[in-house]
Amino acid sequence: MARMPGVVWDPLPENRTEPYINPSQIIVHTAVDGNVNIPAYFRRRDVFVESHFWITRSGRITQMMDTHRQADANYRANNSAISIETEDDGDPEGNPWTYAQIQSLVRVIKWAASTHGIPIQRCRSSTAPGVGWHSMWSYPTDPINLRGRPVPSPWTTALGKTCPGRTRIRQLIDVVMPLASGTADPPDGGDDENRDTVRDGSRGSDVQALQKFFKIPDDGIFGAMTEAAVKTFQMAQGLSVDGIVGPKTWGRVDEPKSVYTKQTSQYLPYTIWLRSPYAYRSQYQALTRILNSELLLPASPVFSEISDAATRGFQRGAGLTVDGMVGRQTWGTLFFGAPDD
Ligand SMILES: [Zn+2]
Repeated sequence: MARMPGVVWDPLPENRTEPYINPSQIIVHTAVDGNVNIPAYFRRRDVFVESHFWITRSGRITQMMDTHRQADANYRANNSAISIETEDDGDPEGNPWTYAQIQSLVRVIKWAASTHGIPIQRCRSSTAPGVGWHSMWSYPTDPINLRGRPVPSPWTTALGKTCPGRTRIRQLIDVVMPLASGTADPPDGGDDENRDTVRDGSRGSDVQALQKFFKIPDDGIFGAMTEAAVKTFQMAQGLSVDGIVGPKTWGRVDEPKSVYTKQTSQYLPYTIWLRSPYAYRSQYQALTRILNSELLLPASPVFSEISDAATRGFQRGAGLTVDGMVGRQTWGTLFFGAPDD
């Protein structure tokens, strides 16, 4: 018998009467009903379906059937599938699985996979081992986006079944299964295809990730500081300097490539912390003007927070320590290119 440890065990009457199975599939559902008590629903005398697991939006896991017992939720796959019901609020498209639900789904899938030797991969057919979702075979032309003409499915008697909905199907493929199989990117890792192109005025987590990368204030709003950092980063990476972070620049954020090779002898290298009060004022101002223009900013005598951001962007792009300090290394690299080593 197979019961998952550390979860609520609330067996249905069918747990004693359904036949023994050796499951090879895991099929995920959504309840499409707000505030439903699924164990109570499955107990109703006029309801002849049941599921092995129930995961609420708060992430609480209830096991209602031993996974060696058949649960009737998947038509022809009833004798091969472990079924997982998930709570929604009646709008599974508008409200994706919560973070707690995702964590619990990952736990259940990992446990079921290791207990029954089920591979954590998408089922290649309706009878192949693996993980799937209820409507998987209902829309053969576009099973993820549920588009096209529905066909009769071996996993449901209802024509045009959409369970668990496009949003949750995407979450299953993009988040839950990679986490369960251990192939997910680390949380701050580079998953390029999920990143939007960001530019002046953009907001959100991609902008924030970029700001963290440049070690500038990470309010998630792409303003003058972020733009300054992006431009000098692009310059140092040999990209076209447009201040827009699209696939090419994101690619370099993940994997910096070229080394800055500017060669100029117009200015002598000068070791100075431009934010230090020790330089002579006129000298400081002249150098700051030069520095700002080298950082692609107006030639102002003030080393502003935007200059600081631009310095950090350059340091990132040139592979230097990112501290916003224009010392010997940054100054030398900016004016003479990276030292050979
Ligand atoms: Zn379903």
